[in-house]
Amino acid sequence: MPLQVIHYPHPTLRHPSKPLKRVDAELRKIVEEMFELMYEHEGVGLAANQVDLPYRLFVANPEGDRDSKETECVFINPVLSAGRGQEEDEEGCLSIPGVHAPVTRNTTIKVQAYDLSGNEITADAEGLMARILQHETDHLDGTLFIDRLGPTQLAAIRDKLEEFELVFQSRRETGEIADAAQLAARLAELERLRT
Ligand code: ZN
Repeated sequence: MPLQVIHYPHPTLRHPSKPLKRVDAELRKIVEEMFELMYEHEGVGLAANQVDLPYRLFVANPEGDRDSKETECVFINPVLSAGRGQEEDEEGCLSIPGVHAPVTRNTTIKVQAYDLSGNEITADAEGLMARILQHETDHLDGTLFIDRLGPTQLAAIRDKLEEFELVFQSRRETGEIADAAQLAARLAELERLRT
């Protein structure tokens, strides 16, 4: 089945992802599909649990352009450290389309991760890349950018979030989205295979 971007409040978005033990051909194909979906929805980053997969992995391209291959990055089992400075900027999320709010993040941050060939990557990021790394690593821990908003900012987007909650409920009632037990069983099976 082709991958799809899931929307708030889908429970997989709250699932803390487990580190991957190996990279295989199927995982490379998943990464390719994730890049395609990210460009299709005009995003700059996409985490595995946003496509309903429990893996500690995300893709990013700060240019947000499929023709800009040289700025594409894949981060497997990323670990962030040494965050410095604070900066507020508008953020959105492909899992909560149409909702934007200012989020405070570290200005610079260090990342250690693995690429698709199993090579270790370490980098110091700043600006948009630093923000993408923090937003996407949050996803892998089951955290959304709306969790980082203050009460006033949250109140401003409350109505929009409620619309997403209603859509989710009705899709669950029609059986289009599986119930919680089925979703959990599926994630556990995928974890057993690769993490
Ligand atoms: Zn997001």
